[in-house]
Amino acid sequence: MAEELNPFKIAQAQFDEAAKKLGLEAPMCELLRWPRREYKFTIPVKMDNGKTKVFHGYRVQYNDARGPNKGGIRWHPDETIDTVRALAAWMTWKCSVVDIPLGGGKGGVTCNPKELSEGEKERLARGWMRVIARELGEHRDCPAPDVYTTPQIMAWMMDEYEAIVGRSHPAVITGKPLELGGSQGRGDATARGGIFTVREACKILKIDPAKATYAIQGFGNAGQFAATLHKEILGGGKLVAVSDSSGGIYSAAGFDPHDLVKWKLEKGSVTTYPKAEKKISNEELLELPVDVLYPSALENVITKENAAKIKCKVSCELANGPTTPDADVILHKAGIHVIPDFLANAGGVTVSYFEQVQGTYNYYWKLPDVQKQLDEKMTSAYHAVYDMHKKQNVHMRLAAYMVAVKRVADAVRLRGWV
Ligand code: GLU
Repeated sequence: MAEELNPFKIAQAQFDEAAKKLGLEAPMCELLRWPRREYKFTIPVKMDNGKTKVFHGYRVQYNDARGPNKGGIRWHPDETIDTVRALAAWMTWKCSVVDIPLGGGKGGVTCNPKELSEGEKERLARGWMRVIARELGEHRDCPAPDVYTTPQIMAWMMDEYEAIVGRSHPAVITGKPLELGGSQGRGDATARGGIFTVREACKILKIDPAKATYAIQGFGNAGQFAATLHKEILGGGKLVAVSDSSGGIYSAAGFDPHDLVKWKLEKGSVTTYPKAEKKISNEELLELPVDVLYPSALENVITKENAAKIKCKVSCELANGPTTPDADVILHKAGIHVIPDFLANAGGVTVSYFEQVQGTYNYYWKLPDVQKQLDEKMTSAYHAVYDMHKKQNVHMRLAAYMVAVKRVADAVRLRGWV
């Protein structure tokens, strides 16, 4: 039978398995397997050629039992209500697994940002905010960056929101530029948080991270920072392969991550990097026998078709949804240690939470304080999940779900919803 690849159906199937293991009652299951609210809207934008183009936008508020909804906005050609629903569900479990007092949400626009000018992006950002502003706010729902959305886009959105409500409101959105109330350490937080979990996994698995080989699939914000921070935080390691949407490159001797990031930022793709030994495909990269693999692009790259060929020891999922449920079972049986997405990449939203707190108090923290608190959150979340994995003898993703879903269910019960 063909494998289910609709991200929301996958998110529901993952939840169902955890709910069954936790013995949740039927109404609780029904409540938690669906978003509480969802908005689908149109955004008319005046394009540079003088014509109006109508974009389709989304915001899904999945669950706010533990606190206001929180989650990024993706601008992607393949965005649909179901990708946004899945990502909103994952945000709910993500905020819960790191134990921050927030719920889950996600937004999106179906568009190809590579085809938009700066002016068109600004009008699209402001247009998105104009439609949905009344449903947002730091006590209601707080967006942030995600695939193809940037601190600049957050700045335009905050500015539009403030113009609508008529007062300063830095905590309405996170991932802003530092000059406008962004937090120190937000830029690399997703990758940094993931590497803290790899550090803990390496201790348990007795892998020396300073000697480990690693490969990165996807070279956007998270992938680029993972490349440099792996060495910086873990005291070494050899980056042998990297890919982006145009393809990948390999070097047995290892790449200089800083040089490679510079190339990517200047030239747009790693595939033309002159110091590569050979070109490889994204699929080949995933199958390399490395110690640590960082899937850092999009959903459904490790499926039942290729899972048996994956040879890493640790898969640290900086992307959301890279592994399908069938693939999870195959990786688990093969003894591959998966640090599941909503744990591995929770560093981003954790520092977003710090940014929201700082914005609300109008008092800003120093970088070492942000990084120390991030380390504490990620380390304790990793061990909570690892302990559940050992105690219940379930794979790491199911363990993460069990930790996260239980906390949300407890909040729902205490509120008297179920
Ligand atoms: N988009 C990021 C994520 O998927 C960050 C969300 C946030 O900071 O609110 O976790």
